[in-house]
Amino acid sequence: MTDYVKLLKANTLKATFQRINILDIIDKHGHMSVEDIYDEIIKIHPSISLATIYKNIILMVEKAVLVEVPISGRKPKYELSKNDHIHLVCTECGDVEDKPCIEETDKVFHALTDSQHFKLHKRQVNLYGICESCQAKIAS
Ligand SMILES: [Zn+2]
Ligand SMILES: [Zn+2]
Repeated sequence: MTDYVKLLKANTLKATFQRINILDIIDKHGHMSVEDIYDEIIKIHPSISLATIYKNIILMVEKAVLVEVPISGRKPKYELSKNDHIHLVCTECGDVEDKPCIEETDKVFHALTDSQHFKLHKRQVNLYGICESCQAKIAS
């Protein structure tokens, strides 16, 4: 398990129980909307408000503990900061799968950006499609 106290403090944030719980829940589920996080966290903190969760998430995004994953046509999801990667986003169920940036994809990104003298410092790519389990549901 990630040491969330250390992670928060390293990013000049107070390690409150709410923040630790938010990080723990996101870590377990991968990518979550604020509402998804709320549904989980009220099991631990029944009196917490959606606004409080939202405020904490925005702050942790500002401090780069969390990353916002904007998803076309849906509410954004949040994930823990990790190495740049590619997202496979299912347009049916909204599921988001991580795929690492491999050497081949990096070559493509640099070919696109270098020719524009564009200094690439972060890759956030969403590929949209239909996941395997949704394909099975559609077929049946
Ligand atoms: Zn799906
Ligand atoms: Zn991701």
